[in-house]
Amino acid sequence: MSAPNPEHYLRLAPHVCLRLLEEPFLYDRRADELYELNQEGLEALKKCRGHLTMEQVGLEPEFASVCLEEGLLELSPTPWPMPLALGPGPSPSLRYLELQITWRCNLACAHCYLGAAQKVDLGVKRVAAILREFEAMGGLRVMLSGGEPLMHPQWTEINALLAALPLRRVLLSNGLLLERALEGLNCDEVQISLDGLEAGHERLRGKGSFARAVAAAKAVKDSGRELSIATMVHAANLDQMAGLEELVRELGAGEWGIDAPCLSGRLGEHPELAVTPEQAVEAMSRAYGGAFHGGGDGMACGLHLATVAADGKVAQCGFYLDQPLGMAEEGLWTCWARRKAISLKDINGCRDCEAADDCGGGCRFRAPGPLEPDPVMCAAFGMEPKEEA
Ligand code: SF4
Ligand code: SF4
Repeated sequence: MSAPNPEHYLRLAPHVCLRLLEEPFLYDRRADELYELNQEGLEALKKCRGHLTMEQVGLEPEFASVCLEEGLLELSPTPWPMPLALGPGPSPSLRYLELQITWRCNLACAHCYLGAAQKVDLGVKRVAAILREFEAMGGLRVMLSGGEPLMHPQWTEINALLAALPLRRVLLSNGLLLERALEGLNCDEVQISLDGLEAGHERLRGKGSFARAVAAAKAVKDSGRELSIATMVHAANLDQMAGLEELVRELGAGEWGIDAPCLSGRLGEHPELAVTPEQAVEAMSRAYGGAFHGGGDGMACGLHLATVAADGKVAQCGFYLDQPLGMAEEGLWTCWARRKAISLKDINGCRDCEAADDCGGGCRFRAPGPLEPDPVMCAAFGMEPKEEA
């Protein structure tokens, strides 16, 4: 690459933004990468708005070259000013938002934590207001889910809202309606659910659903978008995990999330699908890629995650809709401010656990009580869940 011309105008690439989270960050939504910045780096990048030349911005040359090579910054021979809205967000930061835009669904999966599908939808204006507020709060990634999000009666309008949204946009789908929706889909990533090979997947999701989900996953890749796969471990797919891993890798998924079931929603009617913590851990060890359920800084899971449900309830995640933080019309920030993060020090057994930093206390919903260890993660780290007085 030839040396950049110091008289050319420098600005952040369209897929890159600055965020004031717990620390200042540069976020590349295309790669879903967060780069921590020092104050000096932040001040210099704040000047990269297309109105100053590289010389005037005064970026450290090596740093500027790396950013240009990585496509994080762009140069133009003429000024190309861009706006920069950068305000401090809440603490803890809200980085990930699951938007259950509808509770309609075209399947009736045996493990669905929402239970029966319902004709309940978030209105388009409400979705627009939530997305605006989430962006202003410093959000990074919005996950459109359901139900089946493509069943939303105004999906076309919602998809149009996503076009100019400078966040990573992820669609969580069962894949059945996807092939038609892919053209013009304003999402960076599509996550398809695959709950086993044919027998295991269809045990939960019904006859004929497997081939269609696999075809949808292939179509996502062919469309040039990123593909991720989500799998629920259950008693009828345990024997298929090796074959499923081969398929997921062959499909080219950038991320494979494998989760252990929580006996909620419709799964409560199918206890025969439950697995032991040890079985779950063995299956989950095949997962790869990032996650957004995590905690950090000594706090338990979901530290930077919220869910807005189709009926407007805002909750800390989809499992806590019966204990909402509030309603979307009150404002996302208002609801988020009510969230009480759980310290690992308050969780019996976790407070003295030597794996606590790596484990983070597991899933608070899957744990037998909010202040009890998560047996699946205890099995993963070889810890005995401790009983405390
Ligand atoms: S391994 Fe078990 S006890 Fe240790 S932090 Fe994780 S959930 Fe808590
Ligand atoms: S309770 Fe479980 S599902 Fe909810 S954020 Fe925590 S890990 Fe995720």
